[in-house]
Amino acid sequence: MRRSSTTTALVALALTTSTVGLSSAAAPAHASHATHATHASPAAQGQHGRATPPPKTPTQVGRGGAVTSVDADASRVGLRVLRRGGNAVDAAIATAAALGVTEPYSTGIGGGGYFVHYSARTGKVQTIDGRETAPQAMPRDAFINPRTGDPYRFTPELVTSGVSVGVPGTLATWQRALHRWGTRSLGQSLEPAARLARRGFVVDQTFHDQTVDNSVRFKAFRSTKRLFWKHGHAPRVGKRFRNPDLADTYDLIARRGPEAFYRGPLAGEIARVVHRPPTTADTKLPVPPGYLTTRDLAAYDAVNRRSTHVDYRGYDVHGMRPSSSGGATVGEALDILEQFDIPAMDDADALHHYIEASALAYADRGAYDGDPAYVDVPLEDLLSDRFAAERACRIDPDRAMPKPTKPGNVKHYDGRCGSGRSTTAPDAVSDTENVETSNLTVADRWGNVVEYTLTIEQTGGSGMVVPGRGFLLNNELTDFSPEFDRADPNRIQPGKRPRSSMAPTILLRDGKPFLALGSPGGSTIITTVLQMLFDRIDRGMTVEQAIAAPRASQRNTATVSAEPEFITAYGEALKPYGQQLVPSGDAFTSAAQIGAATAIEFGRGGRLTAVSEPVRRGGGSALVVRPSR
Ligand code: GLU
Repeated sequence: MRRSSTTTALVALALTTSTVGLSSAAAPAHASHATHATHASPAAQGQHGRATPPPKTPTQVGRGGAVTSVDADASRVGLRVLRRGGNAVDAAIATAAALGVTEPYSTGIGGGGYFVHYSARTGKVQTIDGRETAPQAMPRDAFINPRTGDPYRFTPELVTSGVSVGVPGTLATWQRALHRWGTRSLGQSLEPAARLARRGFVVDQTFHDQTVDNSVRFKAFRSTKRLFWKHGHAPRVGKRFRNPDLADTYDLIARRGPEAFYRGPLAGEIARVVHRPPTTADTKLPVPPGYLTTRDLAAYDAVNRRSTHVDYRGYDVHGMRPSSSGGATVGEALDILEQFDIPAMDDADALHHYIEASALAYADRGAYDGDPAYVDVPLEDLLSDRFAAERACRIDPDRAMPKPTKPGNVKHYDGRCGSGRSTTAPDAVSDTENVETSNLTVADRWGNVVEYTLTIEQTGGSGMVVPGRGFLLNNELTDFSPEFDRADPNRIQPGKRPRSSMAPTILLRDGKPFLALGSPGGSTIITTVLQMLFDRIDRGMTVEQAIAAPRASQRNTATVSAEPEFITAYGEALKPYGQQLVPSGDAFTSAAQIGAATAIEFGRGGRLTAVSEPVRRGGGSALVVRPSR
């Protein structure tokens, strides 16, 4: 594969920044634990009673299985399961349960997610949809304040509320995955995480900062304040954070199964929190109550789904079908890009096409994607080569198209330029999806693979901890379109799953795993996965380079949000095309960062390259069972 010198230089810059730049005063504070140490060791007790978290390893190469996640403790938990003979699913659930302890603001049993599995025995990729559902009593005007008749503001009303809490799907996903493919019980899988919750983990800068950023919300609830704002301050960096309530909750579920959550004592407690948020007397936050009942919890089920599939330059790309828009949107954009000889282009031309293809796929996402139990998603059309060929006609090789651009017409297309007509108005794209979540990738010695993205939506979810239970409830229903429109596939409907962007993806080549990857990042998840695939397959980067490379995200909006490093590298070159790049956030906050991916690439003779972010979100932790370098 061809790689241009600009790309090489940029990736080198990104990798250098990840290793050297962190010690500089200008480095983001929360990145301070990203290191290139190659062995994880137990947290060490330093001077003044301060401990250091286990070192993080952004990349490891080796054999025998691998686990990669954003967190060193969680990856270690998964690795131990693999070493003791567990398979990829066993290790993935144990890692996810541990993330519920160490990443409680992004994941946990109060949320949902999407699980993608490759079975070495059958050669099949299959998925589980563990997305939260809307309560049955949720009215279509749930986002309108009944007292004023005006829409609730996204922040603070919807974000910190009972009204946005969906029925959690995570435990049902774990149970279902273990039942279908695992070798261990849910109880066994929860055990290491319960131990970690009891023993505690060492607070790093990211966890501290996330708590501080959410202090107003967390202090608004008695239960949350007691857990995350104990003694009147955020958990201190270098101190141990223990969550015995969560340990007890995991133990309870280990003994009594997910029933304890969906039909037992926890169900009543969850419903009570949603209906009567446990607000503190002095909070000024409005906190609208919600609709979730014990009956909604009892009725919840995770759903088995086939994967989405597209063939991209000889790779079989399997993703998550709706209710997530991930697989459909990544797949369509790839199909569009496949119409062009990208490897023959220079960087600017290639990136221009990546940006345009992404905008087109996003336009179709807005018009057509929603929960398939409620809306008819024309997936076959959206992922057909003929539809892609016609959509690709919209790309002017020299000029950015005006945006937002219109969706394609799935009822009338023949793959030729100028024959399709759009039927709907352009999606105005009010992007209210948030940018925190967690992702993990696992492979075992038998060749099974798991790609799993899980979330409680916003950092800190709804802000509400279930009293005495140690976990936060999600605010996933904010992913519904804020305004009710009958033509909108993502309108609020009782029992429905809000549209997601999560895009856990597994690529096969000749029927064998080639690459598994996924990312957090709200609606930027799709562009992160897309860009990594584009960089890896079309632009000749290694997977390690693709995960570090600066990112740009075009979601059918007038401008392209891009990381500052991307703008520095390509801003000038993309100007002649009319691509307007705007910084994705302030350079020293996590908002500037697009994605926090994990991936495993499968090489010859069982060689695994496990990667996580070197810098974003404080860097991740990739571990293999038998490292070779
Ligand atoms: N709610 C988002 C989704 O389902 C995920 C949240 C995030 O990544 O921040 O797509």
